[in-house]
Amino acid sequence: MKENKMNALEIHNKIEENKEKSIETLIDFVKQPSISRDVEAVEKCSRYLKSLMIDLGIDTRIYKTEGNPIVYGEVSSNNKNARTVLFYGHYDVQPPDPLEEWDSPPFNPTIRNGRLYGRGAGDNKGQLLAHVLAVKTILEKEESLPINVKFVFEGEEEIGSKSLTKFVENNKELLETDVVITSDGPIHDSGAPMVVFGVRGVMNFQLELKTAKTDNHSGNKGGVIPNPAWILNEVLYSMKDKDDYVTIDGFYDDVLKPTGKEMELIEKLPFDPENLAKVYGVEKIELDKKTFYERLMFLPTLTINGLVSGYTKEGTKNIIPKKATAKMEVRMVKNQNPEDLFEKIKNHVKKINPDVKVIQQEEDMYPSRTSSELPISEKVIAAVKKAYKIDPIVLPSMGGSLPDYIWTKVLGKPSIMVPYANADEANHAPNENMDLDCFMKGIHCSVEIINGLK
Ligand SMILES: [Zn+2]
Repeated sequence: MKENKMNALEIHNKIEENKEKSIETLIDFVKQPSISRDVEAVEKCSRYLKSLMIDLGIDTRIYKTEGNPIVYGEVSSNNKNARTVLFYGHYDVQPPDPLEEWDSPPFNPTIRNGRLYGRGAGDNKGQLLAHVLAVKTILEKEESLPINVKFVFEGEEEIGSKSLTKFVENNKELLETDVVITSDGPIHDSGAPMVVFGVRGVMNFQLELKTAKTDNHSGNKGGVIPNPAWILNEVLYSMKDKDDYVTIDGFYDDVLKPTGKEMELIEKLPFDPENLAKVYGVEKIELDKKTFYERLMFLPTLTINGLVSGYTKEGTKNIIPKKATAKMEVRMVKNQNPEDLFEKIKNHVKKINPDVKVIQQEEDMYPSRTSSELPISEKVIAAVKKAYKIDPIVLPSMGGSLPDYIWTKVLGKPSIMVPYANADEANHAPNENMDLDCFMKGIHCSVEIINGLK
């Protein structure tokens, strides 16, 4: 299809013309109380979404899984050699509790001050709908899309995306694509758009040491039996040095150094340590910008999430505890592997104290990163810039974890995150909302991404 600037302008005008209808569609969608664990409501919402997409001209079907259904849609381009983009999102929502803290009912979406308040408005219904409405608007003005578009909307994101991995594993041909785009979470709090290329993985585990059948009198037995809290602390203390570097053998073996381009991106990121300290509730941030972002995006962490031993309530109780536990996690970066790290941690603990048990908790989430230097990555960055008319903040990775590896590792495709919601969307909290300007900008941005990838 040849470039047609007039049509691009017409499409953007059409998006604005359709504004009221688009907001009505969002309101209707948010009315669906699709809390992940409410199987009936989730299934109803999947059928609702399917018929909505079909009405908008998208070939859509529902795939049953062991958990909640996946809504899959596609629109093929007339151009046989066209690229393909896969938009991923989720139609399930968090529970709305505590209800009394909402200013309007969570499933009776209400507009106030240019925002739509309702559970799921930003996370993630407003964002996934932006992609759908972008395709619909292009089809109103053009005979065909410039590229093939696929949609995967799951119903279990808020409870760990358990069925998605299997679905992707079993449907690689169906999901064949050049790139996966996810719009979830907020834009930068400065109002700048963001393009995010990766996440850290997470592995949870627990250290446990039991030294007696019961807690013991700390006077009558003090000095003659071991105290598990002290012993466990020795093990913990052996895991890091004074500069906060992890001393477990091989912990950093697979860590990749940031590339020159990634260092350039770090240079361009905003950095206001005073404000960050305020936001984090700490006295100050003593790291320079380069170290701050390198540690947040390119280095793994070893964190004690909780320590439990003995008596911890008000007042005193003179005991020697019978047991001590440390709840811990590793945030992994690209190339690191949870099974391998778990072995390394176990070997380390065994060397220091073989009585301490290392127990794995829950399932691991692998790290994921797509190169921002791929031609397709550059096209997406350019499209976002065109839509928002400012340079996006480009993050090589975020510090947190999402199941992005399903796209990069299981499907084996580049995956890029372009959030559309306002920074104060209050996702997972009372009064969740989607700024309607952000919603509209999202539709424009999806159009630019689709046009930009041709
Ligand atoms: Zn969420």
